[in-house]
Amino acid sequence: MKAYDGMYIDGAWRPAAGPDVIEVVNPADEQVIATVPAGTVEDIDAAVRAARAALPGWAATPPAERAARLAALRDVLVARRAEIAETVTAELGSPPKLSDAVHAGVPIAVAGSYAELAATYAFEEKAGNSTVFHEPVGVVGAITPWNYPLHQIVAKTAPALAAGCTIVVKPAEDTPLVARLFAQAVHEAGVPAGVFNLVTGLGPVAGQALAEHPGVDLVSFTGSTAVGRRIGAIASGMVKKVALELGGKSANVILPSADLARAVNVGVANVMSNSGQTCSAWTRMLVHEDRYDEAVELAAAAAAKYGDRIGPLVNAKQRERVRGYIDKGVAEGARLVAGGSDSPHEKGYHVSPTVFADVTPEMAIAQEEIFGPVLSVLRYADEEDALRIANGTVYGLAGAVWAGDEAEAAAFARRMDTGQVDINGGRFNPLAPFGGYKQSGVGRELGSHGLAEYLQTKSLQF
Ligand code: NAD
Repeated sequence: MKAYDGMYIDGAWRPAAGPDVIEVVNPADEQVIATVPAGTVEDIDAAVRAARAALPGWAATPPAERAARLAALRDVLVARRAEIAETVTAELGSPPKLSDAVHAGVPIAVAGSYAELAATYAFEEKAGNSTVFHEPVGVVGAITPWNYPLHQIVAKTAPALAAGCTIVVKPAEDTPLVARLFAQAVHEAGVPAGVFNLVTGLGPVAGQALAEHPGVDLVSFTGSTAVGRRIGAIASGMVKKVALELGGKSANVILPSADLARAVNVGVANVMSNSGQTCSAWTRMLVHEDRYDEAVELAAAAAAKYGDRIGPLVNAKQRERVRGYIDKGVAEGARLVAGGSDSPHEKGYHVSPTVFADVTPEMAIAQEEIFGPVLSVLRYADEEDALRIANGTVYGLAGAVWAGDEAEAAAFARRMDTGQVDINGGRFNPLAPFGGYKQSGVGRELGSHGLAEYLQTKSLQF
């Protein structure tokens, strides 16, 4: 067990203001692996002051130099890739392959994309007789969750730094270790003191203090809808800018012309990856009634094949929450065709890959975000019915459409009330804007749209 000390503030590791610590638990064996300091209002204040003091210098740093620091940061992340993957496996419980490919690989790609965007983005443009300048919003307060712990920090930090903003990050309680590793990487990359700051701590203490701090100009939050609402209320009360990346209940729509086996197999893999702890997971599979039984059989077989290859959930609370939804699904009359709330593991917060058939759109397991390895398979009668079901939740984060040809799938996708749709499987694109319609959030992350969140415009008329 390691007892880590200090917060990364103003370019150095400073002792925390208070004595409290947070225990970090390995979800695979339930052992405490480390403690980190629980930051207080004073730590947040020191970090915001450092970020404010560094803002004029960083905002005035030429974009090419900001790009060079981001490229250096990407290189440090590449050099420390194995360490990143091991750290995420230890604190999140994700299987080593996933930790390498996704938890390390995606943040590296995103940091690289912002190194390029910082160098090429048009921070100045002409509009008639005006010159329009895209200037940094100021000091960013970033509050991040545990499910993609490094990605979510990089998806906020890299565009903020590219834009010329300075930032204070408050990472999730469950996954502070990779956040600390990231702070070391920022330091090694030569990012000037105060531009990036890290305060570990509890959400209602350190997170809330960051959202409420008058020195923060933009609050960028990823996490639950309940906390997102609070952050939104604080920000609007103080007339701060706010970006919210919240939950999802994404639909995977399999049209009759699709390659059913492929659509179902990729769909199941999408839900089970990261043990279902993915806000954009395609947790509702929509299948035409004529092919429904075949799809259910394929989905059950695919889920069973995962066996215990998926990792545990992040903590006991999440496991109980997911088990609660599984029990609710059974009580509501859905048919369990794979998994269930029991797990063969003796230790760790495991839930078996679970598939429900005969799910109807109004059931809780078809409406609410479960955040576990649980797939609901729904039937539809025709395309209009499929669209009604797909659009029939309060969420609109992501989704998928499968059809015999891409144009047919794309035409359906254009009618979905959702921010990102994969056509016939799609491929991850770090430049594609990511974010929600409806209650899935406000704003976009990644690519040039993600960069624009950290900019404000000024026009001069000539
Ligand atoms: P959460 O919203 O409580 O935590 C996210 C972040 O917000 C953490 O850093 C936390 O410390 C902080 N936070 C908590 N309370 C706060 C407050 N009052 N003020 C400021 N910051 C605060 O999420 P959780 O409890 O870790 O997960 C619960 C559920 O949220 C999940 O089951 C899932 O449905 C959803 N979730 C969604 C995402 C996503 O990517 N959209 C990520 C994680 C969790």
